[in-house]
Order: sequence, then structure tokens, then C-alpha cells
Amino acid sequence: AKLRGKNNYQVFTPELARKQRTEARLALDLRDALEQQQLELFLQGQFDQAGQLTGAEALLRWHHPEHGLVPPDTFIPLAEESGLIVPIGRWLVEQAGQLLASWHSNPLSQSLQLAINISSRQFSDPSFVSDLLNCLQRYRFNPNLLHLELTESLLIDNASEVADIMMRLNSQGLTFSLDDFGTGYSSLAYLKRLPLQTLKIDRSFVRDLLNNPNDALIARSIVSLAHNLGLSVIAEGVEEQAQLQALTQMGCGCFQGYYFQRPMPVAEFAARYLQHNAR
Ligand code: C2E
Ligand code: CA
Ligand code: CA
Ligand code: CA
Repeated sequence: AKLRGKNNYQVFTPELARKQRTEARLALDLRDALEQQQLELFLQGQFDQAGQLTGAEALLRWHHPEHGLVPPDTFIPLAEESGLIVPIGRWLVEQAGQLLASWHSNPLSQSLQLAINISSRQFSDPSFVSDLLNCLQRYRFNPNLLHLELTESLLIDNASEVADIMMRLNSQGLTFSLDDFGTGYSSLAYLKRLPLQTLKIDRSFVRDLLNNPNDALIARSIVSLAHNLGLSVIAEGVEEQAQLQALTQMGCGCFQGYYFQRPMPVAEFAARYLQHNAR
């Protein structure tokens, strides 16, 4: 009877409770992920109007021993809640340093930019700045080539503190872009005071660009806002040539998306672009 009770309990567990249990378990597993080398950096290329590769965004992947590939949309929020994003972010910065150092010796890759995603919790960690500067010092890559992608949510609570840290890093040559632009609540006046180099048009506006006049209008406005502020602009989530054409007509100078390529392992990226016989 007891057993059946247990089964009944499981059968009637609401979807939400199950999801929460799964997440709690995943959060526990995540503690081992770094140590057991289950995290991997994927790269997705970024391209200019001529279709030339200009850099790449690093996107994390988690190879879970039982569940297979867990998407970052699932595990990054868990890492943020638990604080694990700090050691994970530290590991990511180290990987980025190694990668840029290895790119430096190859004429095909020495001017490629590498963009990494920085979450609020990681940015606010006291060791964030020193870890980055330390990484710069050890790997001696051109700091202009390391691009930090921040989201607007970072600016909501402690905008002036964030600006201070950005200034410090920017004075060392590191560059910044505002990710998912248009989905948050940035004060436009504030944009001018931050050492930003790039606005990144969110995928949600690119997706329906061709069918939805509002999205097209927003994309166009972001491009001109960026240009008026002296910033460059990149569109994410470009999947079709027609989207690329529309964005190009709006004056967007840089693109990223499945139309060009899906995120891929670092070795595959290197084989594709960084060998002398690469196309
Ligand atoms: P994001 O920074 O906005 O990254 C872009 C996401 O869009 C990536 O999803 C990418 O694979 C996907 N994508 C790129 N092109 C296309 C396209 O043409 N169509 C569609 N449908 N999707 C496209 P991914 O790799 O699953 O990453 C999801 C999110 O997880 C990222 O969104 C970012 O917020 C977060 N994330 C990933 N890696 C890291 C990391 O190392 N650190 C932090 N803090 N967050 C990360
Ligand atoms: Ca990003
Ligand atoms: Ca984005
Ligand atoms: Ca996005």
C-alpha cells in the first residue's frame, strides 16, 4: 500500500513540482560539471556586410553524463542562483585568454574578436576585474579583441558602479556590447555615458523583421540609435538571406546567426576558418 501511495504521489505530481525537482538535481550536478570537465565552449562566427568573418561569440555547452546536452538557457540561470556562475565565469575567462593567445600566432585569426557573455552576478563579483586583468597579463593578447557582452538587466540596480567597472576595464582596452538590446529597460540617456562599443539587436526583432512592421521599425531604430551614438551594431539570430538583406539596407554592419553557421566546437571552428586551405 505504501508503495502504491508513493507511485500515486509521483503520478499526480504537478508539472511544476517535477520541474523544480529536476532543476534542484541539475543544480547539484552543476557543482561537479567544472571539475569533471563537462563544460565546453562553442563558437558562433560573426560576419561583416561582405560576408567576411570578423570574430566569434563563445557559447557554453554542458555535456551532462545522463541527460546529454543541457542548453545554457537551462543551466546558466541555475548557475546564477547558486553562485556557481562565478567559478564558471572565471573558467570561461581563462578559456577565452587561451583561445585569443592561440589565435594571435595565426595571421588568419590574429585580428578576430572573441565575445563572451557576462552575467550580472559574475560582473558584481569582487574578483571579476582582477581575474580579467590577470588573464590579460598572462596571455598577452590584444585586449581590444576581447569583447564582453552585458545585458541591460545589469544596469538596473547599480548603474554607476557598473559604469565605474566598465571604465576601468575599457581603459585597459577591453570592449563592451549591450546584448539583447531592446528587450530590457535601458535609459537611453545612460547609454551615452557607458564605454560601449556595440549594440546587439535581439533575435526577437530579427525573427519577424520581414512580416512585422513594428519589429522592422525597432530594428531600424536601434541601428540609427547606435550610429548616432557612435557605436557599431550587430544583429543576432539571422537565419535567412532576406533578413540579412533587410538589415544591411538599414545600415547594420555585422551579423550572426544560423544563416551563416550554428555554434560549433572550437576545433571545428578552427578547421573551418583558421587553416590556410580553409574556404
Ligand atoms: P545569447 O547571448 O543571446 O546568445 C545567442 C543565442 O542564440 C545562442 O543560444 C545561440 O546559439 C542562439 N542563436 C544564434 N543564432 C541563432 C539563429 O539564427 N536562430 C536561433 N533560433 N538561435 C540562434 P545558446 O547558445 O543556447 O545560448 C543561450 C543563452 O545562454 C545566451 O543567449 C546567453 O544568454 C546564455 N549563455 C550562453 N553561454 C553563456 C556564458 O558563457 N555565460 C553566460 N553568462 N551566459 C551564457
Ligand atoms: Ca550574447
Ligand atoms: Ca544575445
Ligand atoms: Ca537573445
